Amino acid sequence: SRRASAPERTRVFTTSNQKGGVGKTTTTVNLAAAMARTGMRVLVIDMDPQGNASTALNVPHGAEVASVYDVLLDEMELHEVVQDAPDVDGLQVVPSTTELAGAEIELVSLVAREQRLSRALERYMAWREEQGQERLDYVFIDCPPSLGLLTVNAFVAAEEVLIPIQAEYYALEGLSQLLNNVQMIQKHLNPRLQVTTILLTMFDARMNLAVQVAEEVRSHFPDQLLDIAIPRNVRISEAPSYQQTVLTYDPASAGAVAYREAAAEIARRGAPVVRSAR
Ligand code: ADP
Ligand code: MG
Repeated sequence: SRRASAPERTRVFTTSNQKGGVGKTTTTVNLAAAMARTGMRVLVIDMDPQGNASTALNVPHGAEVASVYDVLLDEMELHEVVQDAPDVDGLQVVPSTTELAGAEIELVSLVAREQRLSRALERYMAWREEQGQERLDYVFIDCPPSLGLLTVNAFVAAEEVLIPIQAEYYALEGLSQLLNNVQMIQKHLNPRLQVTTILLTMFDARMNLAVQVAEEVRSHFPDQLLDIAIPRNVRISEAPSYQQTVLTYDPASAGAVAYREAAAEIARRGAPVVRSAR
């Protein structure tokens, strides 16, 4: 059946890398769409004030739209702000609006400031069950390129960190800083968090440097690095200006094929073993 590959419980990913422009948003929206197209029920939460994931998935996110900002500030529930992605069946989106930028500061003085998204997501899953809606299979949270309270909220709500890496000279330097941050979150806020998935993006196998970086990532993270790499592909970069993912914009392109394969690999590898709290 279409549902045969569904995970046994909801898998919650946060897409993270402190560098901008490495393919976080592109990876979030295309993997989410690829999962949805295999019959999975998928939720994307846009935690980046830039709203690029909301744009790519074609959901309104102007100033008048209810968004994840209202949820973080405790003014609304996720079920009140979630939208159906108009072009992808089975995919829902919690949009971000530009006012989310202010949340980094506004959250500072609130109680449980790091747990707001996590608790809202728990309430949303319970609400779905009460409504008789089917369980979500995958949640993907798209983060801004910084370790502020928005990213911390995503780390606390997630179980799996998905790291897109652009295979270039400084890639590994940023990576060790990111891993330190993940460790800090594990220790103080979310012991279940694990880096489960690393994906090479904008990969050009003809470039020696890219191949070298890929080998180095593979040697350090043999279990996390996906076999499939996402090639640099112009159709991937064109799709957002048509408010589409590459999966509908050009389903036969190398980019669409690679994201479908990456989604299949993630599904095949399955959820991580839950670590016991110490
Ligand atoms: P981030 O969210 O990490 O800032 P984006 O996903 O927005 O990065 O990607 C940065 C830019 O690179 C965007 O213009 C995007 O369209 C482009 N891009 C991402 N992945 C690819 C790819 N595989 N091939 C070509 N362009 C890509
Ligand atoms: Mg982004």
